[in-house]
Amino acid sequence: MAVAVERPANDELRNLSLSGHVGFDSLPDQLVNKSTSQGFCFNILCVGETGIGKSTLMDTLFNTKFESDPATHNEPGVRLKARSYELQESNVRLKLTIVDTVGFGDQINKDDSYKPIVEYIDTQFEAYLQEELKIKRSLFNYHDTRIHACLYFIAPTGHSLKSLDLVTMKKLDSKVNIIPIIAKADTIAKNELHKFKSKIMSELVSNGVQIYQFPTDEETVAEINATMSVHLPFAVVGSTEEVKIGNKMSKARQYPWGVVQVENENHCDFVKLREMLIRVNMEDLREQTHTRHYELYRRCKLEEMGFKDTDPDSKPFSLQETYEAKRNEFLGELQKKEEEMRQMFVMRVKEKEAELKEAEKDLHEKFDHLKRTHQEEKKKVDDKKKELEEELSNFQKKKAAAQLLQSQAQQAGSQQTKKDKDKKNSPWLCTE
Ligand code: GDP
Repeated sequence: MAVAVERPANDELRNLSLSGHVGFDSLPDQLVNKSTSQGFCFNILCVGETGIGKSTLMDTLFNTKFESDPATHNEPGVRLKARSYELQESNVRLKLTIVDTVGFGDQINKDDSYKPIVEYIDTQFEAYLQEELKIKRSLFNYHDTRIHACLYFIAPTGHSLKSLDLVTMKKLDSKVNIIPIIAKADTIAKNELHKFKSKIMSELVSNGVQIYQFPTDEETVAEINATMSVHLPFAVVGSTEEVKIGNKMSKARQYPWGVVQVENENHCDFVKLREMLIRVNMEDLREQTHTRHYELYRRCKLEEMGFKDTDPDSKPFSLQETYEAKRNEFLGELQKKEEEMRQMFVMRVKEKEAELKEAEKDLHEKFDHLKRTHQEEKKKVDDKKKELEEELSNFQKKKAAAQLLQSQAQQAGSQQTKKDKDKKNSPWLCTE
């Protein structure tokens, strides 16, 4: 039977009772049917060191074998790898994306390890915001890649959180729903585990890290969520290996000394995690992502872009006015930049011109210097030539005089010889 609900007196709505069945009580069913036919999407981010058991836990949680290639420990930095799958259970289709942090914790310097994770989360928010801001939006069939849950894998050291864990969780807590879990919990003794859990929780509180709070405002889930919160961080064991226990096959890890059953609540908190992550709070995680984390990102982004809800006089801010103010501001900045660039260009041209003039002057000076040197050299060569020519002509003169003397001497010599011969042949010549 339809029931009219009482409303406050100052409300203008009037309560009326229906005299017969109308049918809008089927609205929730219509909503369920619509959502079912549309399918759901859920995105999990697994943050944890290489080999801590991320892939195994995902396979165990969803009862399937996702693709995974074991990462090496020598990645130069942290890289995020997302893989999407289409799953179906009964008539409910789920588009599941699992994002792995490849190389997390493998570098010597881990200062920047959180950055690629933050960037990835922001990129997904930005993509959604861009879709929302489009004139022609298609959010209805938009593949939402925003991270709904971040499983933070804590190493089962039994001591305390590493500084990398605290820094990373602190950087992520305003962007994503963090669920901390102790990985490979079968490697830690029961009493140590208890202390380890309290230590982790007190460290998270003292460092102001906000983890995901299981909702307790809704009656149907309040009790279970409140009970489960006490067990945080969940100490989980992952395995896809089936072992026969009694006459039933169950997922377990077999050791020489015994068997750890994944779904046995006395052995580990795997069931609690599955309950909280998938069976009870999946929708709340999706909702929190949209209403809390994405809302915060969107608000900051829009404020950065100059949008406000009210103007300084507390009047609602018009989108048109904001847009125009921002546009004018942008155009003003553009003009200023253009003017700056023009001035810079003119200055550069002047500088270049002065440089070229200087270079030209240098060249002229060099040319004059070379010309002078050349003339001096030429003069020196000419003088030398003249000197040599004079020397040559003196030499020629001397040579001619010497030749004349020599020929005169020869002539005189031959005349004397002839006289002597004549004297010898004369008949009047008396011999001694
Ligand atoms: P990932 O690099 O974080 O994805 O780690 P994997 O899931 O590939 O696991 C690395 C190794 O740890 C494999 O040999 C797994 O069998 C093992 N492993 C996974 N989960 C557990 C667990 O809960 N307990 C123990 N002892 N070993 C586990």
